Amino acid sequence: MTNTDFVLSVEDLTVSFDGFKAIDSLNLYVDQNELRVIIGPNGAGKTTLLDLICGKTRASAGSIKFKNSEMTKLPEYQIVRSGIGRKFQTPSIYENLSVFQNLEVSFPRGRGVFGALFFKRSDEVKAQVQAVAAEIGLEAQLDTEAGLLSHGQKQWLEIGMLLMQDPELLMLDEPIAGMSVRERELTAELLQRICKGRAMIVIEHDMEFVKRIADKVTVMHQGKILAEGSMEKVQADPRVIDVYLGH
Ligand code: ADP
Repeated sequence: MTNTDFVLSVEDLTVSFDGFKAIDSLNLYVDQNELRVIIGPNGAGKTTLLDLICGKTRASAGSIKFKNSEMTKLPEYQIVRSGIGRKFQTPSIYENLSVFQNLEVSFPRGRGVFGALFFKRSDEVKAQVQAVAAEIGLEAQLDTEAGLLSHGQKQWLEIGMLLMQDPELLMLDEPIAGMSVRERELTAELLQRICKGRAMIVIEHDMEFVKRIADKVTVMHQGKILAEGSMEKVQADPRVIDVYLGH
């Protein structure tokens, strides 16, 4: 496989904050249908890496290619439009709108919050909302006000809002934080389902969950990649054990 076959190719990526390299000559390749999990101690650079990929932070050097197109200097809205979706830890949903309306306003050719509330719903949007609601397990809650959902359901709704835009690369930051055991299991199933036909990058600290979902694990430390491969492989790597145990 050549580097041009990957959905995402990050090469020699570097970002410095006041001379401190938070990401240091990093290379990362993510494949179609792959669920990649990034782990690493606090301050390793995981969030900064996702910020760079989605255009929230500008790289000092290096390149980010998505489907072979250079993204490095594009503004954030164009990166989103090209098919990269990012979910942060805290759900940003419209608490006063229904689940249906939250999904509807996320439709890319939608008319924003006011349009969705005051204009007639097109059949295309309705069909997409129904399909996504089924995917995220909230079909029965379509008329429920989003603020009344459980913590886990709010997280799934936000994933659903991203799915409305049908991203080819989906990036999630600690998707199971604060979830019950049952919600974690449902989230694992959801992530594996929605990974089909796209690529995913998930930052996660819960090692049992990482084992459950990851196709491949990338371990970051001090802005670099320390190890990469199956969970079994990286767990057995003495450098990884050192970093986690602080030897
Ligand atoms: P992680 O997500 O792995 O915990 P981060 O990406 O949040 O790590 O942070 C990596 C390092 O970069 C940390 O030392 C953090 O303090 C630093 N950092 C991140 N963003 C900024 C910023 N905007 N300005 C200065 N330093 C930053």
